[in-house]
Amino acid sequence: MYRKREQAVCHRDGIKDTPSLDHCVPSCGNIARTDQHAADLRHRAELLDQQAAHTPQPVGDRLRANAARLRGLADAHDRTRITFQEASR
Ligand code: SF4
Repeated sequence: MYRKREQAVCHRDGIKDTPSLDHCVPSCGNIARTDQHAADLRHRAELLDQQAAHTPQPVGDRLRANAARLRGLADAHDRTRITFQEASR
């Protein structure tokens, strides 16, 4: 997504004038997610937590932290999502 060029974190060098999906940063203010993306993030977080339950602690802790990060992104989507009704006003 590329709503505001000045917010794009994928190319701070100013060389390119288009979004760089291969350098996309999940915290970018331009990012757009659908409800399905949020559901997929939560599903992925669940899988990471299941994997963490069968993994030695240091690695398990990293997996749980990653799961929490993904849930945070999904929660942020829920808080800031724009619905069709809101967009058409
Ligand atoms: S959402 Fe990703 S690809 Fe789009 S501008 Fe931001 S960092 Fe770049």
